[in-house]
Amino acid sequence: MSAPVRQASRRRSLIRLLEPLDRVASECTRILSTGHSHFENDGENYMIPRFLYIGRPGGGEMMRVGIFATIHGDEPEGAVALARLLDNLARRPELGEGFGIFIYPLCNPTGFEDGTRTSRSGLDLNREFWKNSAQPEVRFLESEINTHGFHGIVTLHSDDTSDGLYGFVRGAVLSEYLLEPALREANRFLPRNRRSVIDGFVSREGIIHQGYPGMLQSAPGSVRSPFEITLETPQKAPLDRQVSALVSSLETILTEYRRLQSIAQNI
Ligand SMILES: [Zn+2]
Repeated sequence: MSAPVRQASRRRSLIRLLEPLDRVASECTRILSTGHSHFENDGENYMIPRFLYIGRPGGGEMMRVGIFATIHGDEPEGAVALARLLDNLARRPELGEGFGIFIYPLCNPTGFEDGTRTSRSGLDLNREFWKNSAQPEVRFLESEINTHGFHGIVTLHSDDTSDGLYGFVRGAVLSEYLLEPALREANRFLPRNRRSVIDGFVSREGIIHQGYPGMLQSAPGSVRSPFEITLETPQKAPLDRQVSALVSSLETILTEYRRLQSIAQNI
């Protein structure tokens, strides 16, 4: 009689997903793998990892950007993209000049292990923000958003119902002026979703101005309104194209934001 298969053996490997990020962090002195949050689920220990990239000084105040992925456990494409982004930042320091980039590649570790959108608690964590949620993942990420006062927040998703790229904008008006060129760059790898309605929201050229209550975003009523962008890739497209599209979008957002800041400082 064979032993019963342990459920854990069917789980996806957290270590394998994070290995490329850990490797770049160990090789680049500008990347700190620190500030992880630990929590317990059903007697097992989990961690929400955080990587901090500190760019060369750019002259003004350090521009702090938070990038969040895999809040839906079955969308790990963003984590793969963040490994490549860190690698690019390590090899091309001009890319991250003036920035402090806080990278959270795996916001829903139990959902990733199980291959589910929700966490193991059965909740969609991307509907839990700023409503006194007891979920440890949400509480940690809220405290990170509160503590660091980000100038920009970017979240990465992949959508298995979309045949093209699109994004949500919120917060500062300039969000749209960052997303548009980001999508244009990403179009080198994947088409844009140009439908007039996406996911039930009015969309123009792949840009949506609404969102769901409880999304991972800045606290309601924040004094400073950061730029906020959610990028969505078509999940059925080849992984490498999704990763290239996300990385080129993120690099464009950084470059454009720095350019707009330097113009603002000179006015
Ligand atoms: Zn998602």
